[in-house]
Amino acid sequence: MAHLLLRHRDIPNLDQLDVYVKNGGFEAFKKAVTAMQPDAVTEEVKASGLRGRGGAGFPTGVKWSFIPKNITPHYVVANADESEPGTFKDREIMDFNPYQFLEGLAIASYAVQANLSFVYLRGEFYYLAKKLDACIAEMEKAGYLGDNLFGTGFSLRLRTHLGAGAYICGEETALLESIEGKRGQPRVRPPFPAVVGLYSKPTVINNVETLANLPYIVTNGAAGFRKFGTDKSPGVKIFSLSGNVNKPGNYELPLGATFRELIMGCGGGISDGRKLKGIMPAGASSSIIRVDDTNLDKVLDTTMDYENVQSVGSLLGSASVIIIDDSHSMDWVINKTVHFFKHESCGKCTPCRDGNYWMLHLVERIHEGHASAGDIQLLKTVANQVNGKCLCALGDFSTMAVTSALERFPEDFHVGQA
Ligand code: SF4
Repeated sequence: MAHLLLRHRDIPNLDQLDVYVKNGGFEAFKKAVTAMQPDAVTEEVKASGLRGRGGAGFPTGVKWSFIPKNITPHYVVANADESEPGTFKDREIMDFNPYQFLEGLAIASYAVQANLSFVYLRGEFYYLAKKLDACIAEMEKAGYLGDNLFGTGFSLRLRTHLGAGAYICGEETALLESIEGKRGQPRVRPPFPAVVGLYSKPTVINNVETLANLPYIVTNGAAGFRKFGTDKSPGVKIFSLSGNVNKPGNYELPLGATFRELIMGCGGGISDGRKLKGIMPAGASSSIIRVDDTNLDKVLDTTMDYENVQSVGSLLGSASVIIIDDSHSMDWVINKTVHFFKHESCGKCTPCRDGNYWMLHLVERIHEGHASAGDIQLLKTVANQVNGKCLCALGDFSTMAVTSALERFPEDFHVGQA
């Protein structure tokens, strides 16, 4: 099947404007602006069932419909922060198929009537920001951005904005603070960004992959998009596969493909012929799925969509699927995740700031073999004190791997010589 999002794998040099245009580029944007009312675009996206690909899976068209029409200006911000460990799909889109993403951003901007929209990238994506700047300049020259687009009254300009490499700036309100030049920390909600967003104005924030779907939806309609995926999770998804597999990488599959198709098919199976022990389907923020001889087939035949991954005790999230083989102990795995979250906690709220500090001390002690029985129980208690008590989702995310590993892999947690 030809790719919908990773089209550069089928069409060489798709990151050049003339090649993109020759292959139907900007026809969807032109159609939207010249032949559709903004609300009709929103309704088509709602009907398509497109859900946010950044992790939350919230319906995109519904998100747009929350923008109040009587407060202006409106903004759209593309979330290109992509900091979840194990996620590297947006980077590939921006590097090799940038115009499809920027066309999607332009379509979203038209739908909510934003005349200035932003791409927020993490600091490590400096080279991508430069690339997108060059693409935006080409689009302006070719008349796809600017004033009076396609002879209509609609005007649009795009700007890139670089963060400083903080995971928390992928959280949408911290991202907005960062664009405004403030410290990147989450805001208290409500009010939500759809009403009080960038510069206190109504703002839509969509992930890069989400936006890259829009040209296809506008061109082929909701029914065309629904030919892929499942009823509740329509469309295709890019799965970032990493860890102990033979062929790690990005794979575009319809939502509803199975773990078996991804891991054993695309990924070529577990490396070094070892056994599959755990799957983290949503990067470091995952509850770890336990896999052993009793449930191997059940897990591998589970479909990867926004509903079904729950049946094996986890969530799809951004579909950054990390494979763990039986050479690894889960105390080592959570040592890595807690290090990450301790480092990335923005410090604004106490349960996350202090909880991650203490979880790190405890997981290190366990990993080094110095834990007492009380330490393992204390780790559970601290994780429970963090979960559900924080200002933003990072707090909950930091406990997912910890609590699932303790519960599902108790044999990997040993009491040592105190
Ligand atoms: Fe910051 Fe953590 Fe609180 Fe989120 S949960 S606001 S990252 S301290």
